[in-house]
Amino acid sequence: MLSKFQKNIFLITAPSGAGKTSLIKNILKYANIREKKIFLSISDTTRAPRQGELNNIDYCFIDKLKFKENIKDGKYIEHAEVHGNFYGTPKANIEQHLEDGYKVILEIDWQGALTILKYYPDAQSIFISPPSLEDLSKRLTKRGLDSEEVILKRIKGAELELKQKDHFKFQIVNNLLDTATENLINIIFKGNNG
Ligand code: 5GP
Repeated sequence: MLSKFQKNIFLITAPSGAGKTSLIKNILKYANIREKKIFLSISDTTRAPRQGELNNIDYCFIDKLKFKENIKDGKYIEHAEVHGNFYGTPKANIEQHLEDGYKVILEIDWQGALTILKYYPDAQSIFISPPSLEDLSKRLTKRGLDSEEVILKRIKGAELELKQKDHFKFQIVNNLLDTATENLINIIFKGNNG
């Protein structure tokens, strides 16, 4: 049933600190102003909320026990461990939104994106890179949301993540936010996604 609409799935992957959240905010703003149908999937996570994050908006924050229960109940299209926390994409809502003509955005790590591509090979996969690892380190420190230990873990993870970018159909370097936003708009809304 889903295959007919799989081109309307957009998998957006980036090392944390690459500016993915700002980019997605811009995309939602663009869609809102133009009344375009867009649905951003909200993942479950066992990670603790960061300052300013809201339950059921940024993520559904759940404990490990509930996460395991959900896996057993087949609630996720995919799930993965990232930086020591668990993340899962709920099945519910996605198919319905595709049927209703929405573009569905999944903001997930590379493992999740590759899993989804196995099921939906025509989904659009987009990798966002920071201009450099030094830049990433600066951004993570500047945003002040994570401890030094967590930041180091994320930078190490980013080195590995960046090696995965060739598996993705589209690659955007987030050097200037406006230019990167424009590239993403072209892929999602202007059909430049072959
Ligand atoms: P953060 O903790 O910084 O919000 O996210 C860490 C990483 O987990 C990011 O790369 C983010 O895209 C990824 N992530 C968020 N939700 C999911 C999900 O449902 N599945 C997978 N596989 N990764 C996710």
